[in-house]
Amino acid sequence: MSSTDQSFSLAIIGSGIGGLALAIGLLKQNVRCTVYEAAPVFDAVGAGIGLGPNSLKAMALMDEEFAKMYDDIKVGNTAPERYNEQIEILGAEEGFRHGGSVRHPDFTRSSAHRRALLEVMKSLIPEGTVKFNKRVVSLVQKDSKVSIEFTDGEKVIFDAVIGCDGIKGMTRREVLESRYPEEVPAKYCNEYVYRGITTMENAKAIIGTYAEDARWFMMPNKGWAMYPISGGKEVNIVVFVNDDKPWVGEQAARPVEKEEMLRELEGFDKRLIGLLEYVKPMRWPLFHHPDTPTYVKERICLLGDVAHASSPNQAAGAGQGLEDALVLSRVLGLVKNASELDAAFEVYDLIRRPRAQKVVQESKDVGDIYFLTHPDFGTDLEKITEDANRRLPLIWWYDLEADVKIAEEEFRKKVARLPTVGKGSAEKTSKKKTSIFHPMEG
Ligand SMILES: Cc1cc2nc3c(=O)[nH]c(=O)nc-3n(C[C@H](O)[C@H](O)[C@H](O)COP(=O)(O)OP(=O)(O)OC[C@H]3O[C@@H](n4cnc5c(N)ncnc54)[C@H](O)[C@@H]3O)c2cc1C
Repeated sequence: MSSTDQSFSLAIIGSGIGGLALAIGLLKQNVRCTVYEAAPVFDAVGAGIGLGPNSLKAMALMDEEFAKMYDDIKVGNTAPERYNEQIEILGAEEGFRHGGSVRHPDFTRSSAHRRALLEVMKSLIPEGTVKFNKRVVSLVQKDSKVSIEFTDGEKVIFDAVIGCDGIKGMTRREVLESRYPEEVPAKYCNEYVYRGITTMENAKAIIGTYAEDARWFMMPNKGWAMYPISGGKEVNIVVFVNDDKPWVGEQAARPVEKEEMLRELEGFDKRLIGLLEYVKPMRWPLFHHPDTPTYVKERICLLGDVAHASSPNQAAGAGQGLEDALVLSRVLGLVKNASELDAAFEVYDLIRRPRAQKVVQESKDVGDIYFLTHPDFGTDLEKITEDANRRLPLIWWYDLEADVKIAEEEFRKKVARLPTVGKGSAEKTSKKKTSIFHPMEG
């Protein structure tokens, strides 16, 4: 399809990794879209992001250039013998008890600074595609159209909306509230993290060469993950704490006294304690969406964290958003008129939901294992390493090309069953070109 022939309009809500990836994928399929972002500019929360082979594959299948540009910003481990290692598992107590190596001969460790990834994604999207300062406050579906209202009072109408508005996104409520109200709010994972970032030089001064490669230091109910970012010039630190209490109040980061953080993290090797100088005394609660019974309601569908936010224990959340974007952009690339959008969303839900929800569930299990509290693993670091070496390849070498193929075939079958356009179909394609969006009277 040439984008000038496009007879349907698409809005994406949210310009995080999920929303931007979808926009990139759609552009490659010659499908135009408008992205609405609440923030005044592109922004990235947090520092590092690790992406596995499935994420890189999804990027390449959407747009070769995307994968190539990521290649230029990604950072691996420093020691050549650790290039194929995702993490080294060690005990976090004094002396760093030996654990094991989570690795695969076909795997190459890669992570990036979130800002660098955002820059890459931004550069692949034509200026003007993303409208900033546009916080969506309401969505109304009527006659196979979606009316979007923003905080500034503007209203626009689209044929379909893809919610990429993150874990607390309002599109989740629109899709689930009437049928599955209990699944609207994100659920607490019973863990929170402290985050920090420092220069490689600072980190090495305290912990030596341990700073140069990705490592996860474990002890009961606590964990410490660190890995190089920014071309190896900086180190990203995430400290995990198991929390047996509910998270009360807002689902947002909460400052604590530095002394409280230090007390809480007692028991770590003194080198890790030393690195706490670079960790903010701010608790980030981890929430997830373990059950999402559908990603679609009529002409609104969910993509990325708003659909399947995951605890970060397998570093796989954003990768699932990239996979979503691949499958959805490919089926939307086959849509010829608005009446086929429903089929595209149904197929997307069919293909993507089982895979993404499985990753959410497993990431939570892995959290329990890495906190050394899982009854099957206890504090046996070798057994934990073995389990990770069995589990992670199932995420990394998932057959995305097969998913795309099945999605395209299913879409074609569904469309073949639709009444012929122009002969009694629910929607008729107008000869007049539809504008990409239709601002309504205030
Ligand atoms: C500590 C931690 C570490 C992680 N590490 C990894 C990792 O190593 N690898 C990995 O793959 N994943 C990781 N993840 C997960 C990853 O960060 C997320 O899966 C990913 O960033 C989600 O992207 P998204 O685009 O779906 O949502 P978001 O990044 O949340 O983007 C949503 C966007 O929507 C906008 N928005 C929200 N509401 C509205 C509205 N009403 N109107 C308009 N715009 C709106 C927001 O401003 C935002 O820009 C980690 C997560 C955490 C918490």
